Amino acid sequence: MGLGSGLVLGTMVTVDEQLRARWQARASERVADAGHRTGAARRAVIDLLAREGQCLIDAQQIMAELRPRRSPASVYRILHELLTLGLINRFDSRDGIARYEIVDPGNHHHHFVDEQTGDVHPFTDARLDQAVRETAERLGVTISCHEVTLRGLEQPQSRLMAQQWRRDPEIVFVPGAR
Ligand SMILES: [Zn+2]
Ligand SMILES: [Zn+2]
Repeated sequence: MGLGSGLVLGTMVTVDEQLRARWQARASERVADAGHRTGAARRAVIDLLAREGQCLIDAQQIMAELRPRRSPASVYRILHELLTLGLINRFDSRDGIARYEIVDPGNHHHHFVDEQTGDVHPFTDARLDQAVRETAERLGVTISCHEVTLRGLEQPQSRLMAQQWRRDPEIVFVPGAR
């Protein structure tokens, strides 16, 4: 639910099938362009991330889902490749857990981390992205991406938990053409 200022928040509960197909196609293309063979292990990791990596998925979860066929070593190597190709982002939180998320202009959002529970909530905010664009302009720089993570405590009136995740089409952050 919008809060009247372009702020949209909540928990990602559904798989966006368009995003899934789009990212999957782009990932396969980039991996091939980079000279990697699209082997079964790469295919398995890409398929899993396209479906479950639309918001943060942690490394343990990825390993658990791909076991026993894929070894942690090969999965980590493939994750590293995808990072290098700019297809996923990695977030290292204070709990020491690495989480991954697919990169797609239509999937741009930020995160709030509840420091008490460790819960991570996605949200989008048109004003925040506007401020980022204006800052880049003032600095005289062209930015390809940005990440914003807010940390703190949810207040009793927080609506983070109650809302269903929904993207605000107006705030899609499209970086400079790649
Ligand atoms: Zn996310
Ligand atoms: Zn943003």
